[in-house]
Amino acid sequence: MNKFGVHAFVWTKDWTKESCVRAITNTAEIGYDLIELSTLDPKSIDVDFTRRQLESAGIGCTASLGLEADEDISSNDREKERRGQAKLEQALAMARDLGATHVCGILESAFQKYTVPPTAEGVKRSVEILHGAAEIAAKSNITIGLEVVNRYESNVLNTASQAVEMCKRIGAPNVKVHLDVYHMNIEESDIQQAIIETGDYLGYFHTGDSHRGYMGSGSIDLAGVFRAVVKAGYQGPITFESFSSRVVGQPLEGILGIWRNLWEDSRDLAEHALMYTRAQLKAAQEAHKQAERSRLPWPK
Ligand code: MN
Repeated sequence: MNKFGVHAFVWTKDWTKESCVRAITNTAEIGYDLIELSTLDPKSIDVDFTRRQLESAGIGCTASLGLEADEDISSNDREKERRGQAKLEQALAMARDLGATHVCGILESAFQKYTVPPTAEGVKRSVEILHGAAEIAAKSNITIGLEVVNRYESNVLNTASQAVEMCKRIGAPNVKVHLDVYHMNIEESDIQQAIIETGDYLGYFHTGDSHRGYMGSGSIDLAGVFRAVVKAGYQGPITFESFSSRVVGQPLEGILGIWRNLWEDSRDLAEHALMYTRAQLKAAQEAHKQAERSRLPWPK
């Protein structure tokens, strides 16, 4: 059974105690199973307090981050690799202490616009460092999701097929592909085919729409996306990610180019996203059964 999640940035850009309580309470009240917490700024998170809030609300969590430029494990720069490895290990320790099931996001490179393509040696180092991180993650039953993002946010994984190849090279069962429909809409030739071909490598999924606003109010064929998710046999988390200038501040609004206010009311947005996702997934599951429900009677 897929679990449904919502990204914490739908509620808040910071993680003060007040923000933590508000985000977790609203997420649980709407009926989500989990909240995705950003560990971009690990110092901002009071782990014990957050865990208690999650437990009392009865929901789980996942953790996500992107490495910074001076933590780039695909840089082939030993100092940056060392800082990146430390950041990954810190995120995994925090995820373990929060009870998170997944650590995902742009873990394979820095989260930035590159001006040059990746190098073979840089990708090889990223594979080696992620292999080490996977061994640490496995001790806490954590799945690592390598997010495939558009060309303006990384130069290593821009398509699902690249991420499957990366997972094969890393060769750890708990390293999976993290797909995001917003990014797929920019880079993939065929979104549905890419999801189906990712198959068992799919380990985390971000929903949204073409402008990262209300689901169904953009230009992505979300009915087709959910049919592909069902065809792929995907059972993992489906997390809604949406950004508005109303909530997100710097540095994220600068990196992601969030200049427009696409919604005012976080609660209305998140309620609609859960309702929409459940309905789309249900419709896709029913569509998947049509062939077996459409057989002609046949003599024994
Ligand atoms: Mn995403």
